[in-house]
Amino acid sequence: MAKAVLIIGASRGIGAAAALAFAGAGYRVAVNYNRSKAQAEALCAALNEQSPGCALAVPGDVSDPAAVSEMVKAVERAFGQIDVLVCNAGIARQNLFTDVTDAEWRRLFSVNVDGVFYTCKAVLPGMIRRKAGRIITVSSMWGITGGSCEVAYSATKAAVIGLTRALAKEVGPSGITVNCVAPGVIDTEMNHNLNEEALAALREETPLERIGQPEDVARAMLYLASDGASFVTGQVLQVDGGMVIG
Ligand code: NAP
Repeated sequence: MAKAVLIIGASRGIGAAAALAFAGAGYRVAVNYNRSKAQAEALCAALNEQSPGCALAVPGDVSDPAAVSEMVKAVERAFGQIDVLVCNAGIARQNLFTDVTDAEWRRLFSVNVDGVFYTCKAVLPGMIRRKAGRIITVSSMWGITGGSCEVAYSATKAAVIGLTRALAKEVGPSGITVNCVAPGVIDTEMNHNLNEEALAALREETPLERIGQPEDVARAMLYLASDGASFVTGQVLQVDGGMVIG
């Protein structure tokens, strides 16, 4: 039976590229969405056309523990088990630290950090029972270096790295790996506020001289789920064209 992956926030951007990459590698793919139902369903329809029954769209706001629990149960019912969890959902906000409201701060932490907590907690019992599993979290280069005018976002992404490292130690004896990808600037809707001048400056700052594509990150996720990464855990794999080195 093909392995099953649950990708949180897979309706568009990096998550959708991950869904395509995992399906291409023969996985059955659960595509979680929050607002973008039509996009998630269209993605699953396209995947199911290539390989009938391989994809399932599952709704759920990752910041809502009851919704996460329902979503995980639905995927386990449909696929039998979840072999790989990709905690990809995330939101960003750019403003001055002194302008960040309590509500903005809480929402960023609810989605970017609590969401990882809720999904890992819901998926882990099955993985621990089977003594096997792969969890992949998504941080950001800003979670490593800190980004000006993105203090709240940077703090959430640093928290994801801390969670990843600690959880890797705790569940390693159960045969489960927990790793993180830390993308640099990737061409998705999250960056559509950047104008051509800003993008050119970012390209110039990047040793590999280009903006990343969602597929660049998807391939790193696929590697961390693969047999080739069976002795890799608690690591942060930077996919940023060399923007952050050392
Ligand atoms: P994106 O294009 O804005 O897509 C975000 C995805 O997250 C969407 O599928 C969205 O689903 C989902 N999502 C948002 N809130 C959610 C919630 N409450 N519950 C469930 N799903 C939710 O962003 P992206 O660039 O692909 O980002 C994916 C991840 O990479 C994020 O964690 C982001 O922080 C990280 N990242 C991105 C970059 C970059 O340059 N793009 C760099 C570093 C890190 P709906 O549309 O269905 O609501």
